[in-house]
Amino acid sequence: MSECTFCSIVAGDLPSTKVYEDDRTVAFMDINPASRGHSLVVPKEHSVDLLEIGADDMAACMQTAQKLAGDAKTKLGADGVNLLNCCGADAWQTVFHFHIHVIPRYRDQPAKDRLRLPWTPEAGAPEEISAAAADLTA
Ligand code: AMP
Ligand code: ZN
Repeated sequence: MSECTFCSIVAGDLPSTKVYEDDRTVAFMDINPASRGHSLVVPKEHSVDLLEIGADDMAACMQTAQKLAGDAKTKLGADGVNLLNCCGADAWQTVFHFHIHVIPRYRDQPAKDRLRLPWTPEAGAPEEISAAAADLTA
């Protein structure tokens, strides 16, 4: 069995509840769901994270996530959907095989939806925003 949990799931060596599979991707249910129907989309080929995954696998994962987002609305009755990717331990990544969380959202239904915005939006200083933009485009 692979040392990577998600490679083991892709190979069928670890049990999972699969909800979709194609040539490049697999989707299965998250065992610690943030909401009803929370699933994970992974590439079949191992990539550590967002910065390592190839463009074709990235595109395939995003297409699968889009399909599952649609299914969340039409089949689960979700009111909305969040896609989440964590890149790096400091960004909450805990499994180091690239994955996209597909998290169905349910308006005013706390029993089905535990996701909360992790920051309080407040206006940034314009000069700091501009300085960050300058660094990004340098
Ligand atoms: P992240 O923190 O973004 O790396 O997300 C990893 C996710 O994988 C978490 O939400 C875990 O609940 C989930 N997870 C870990 N192990 C398994 C597993 N064996 N089957 C399904 N989901 C898992
Ligand atoms: Zn892996």
